[in-house]
Amino acid sequence: MAEQRDLSQYQRVVIDQDLCISCGACVAVCPWQALELDENAKARLIWEKCYDDFSCVAACPVKCIYKTSEAPEEAKKKPNWYRLGKQLTPEEQKILNDWKAKYGIPVDPLPPS
Ligand code: SF4
Ligand code: SF4
Repeated sequence: MAEQRDLSQYQRVVIDQDLCISCGACVAVCPWQALELDENAKARLIWEKCYDDFSCVAACPVKCIYKTSEAPEEAKKKPNWYRLGKQLTPEEQKILNDWKAKYGIPVDPLPPS
């Protein structure tokens, strides 16, 4: 049976795509496949897959991935840096809304691709 995780316990990461140099290091080290390079070869978070081990924060050579609790306000406001990996259940959507409110993230995730 698939492991059930409590999505409300994770702070996740914020990515400033303007600073990303498309090296792919974060994608390579993420143990949960929670990062990808998007259509512009910039790192993007897949929101519900991140489980807070922060390997990506340590691996990024330009330090443009932040623990959400430590992310600059301007990075949080930028579009396109995170998406959903699937359609969320109503309960998961509530966790997403609570997470956005808790960390002051004004932008919505891109839909599942
Ligand atoms: S914090 Fe960990 S799980 Fe989340 S995106 Fe970074 S490497 Fe992946
Ligand atoms: S490690 Fe940093 S610079 Fe490299 S792809 Fe990831 S976010 Fe971009």
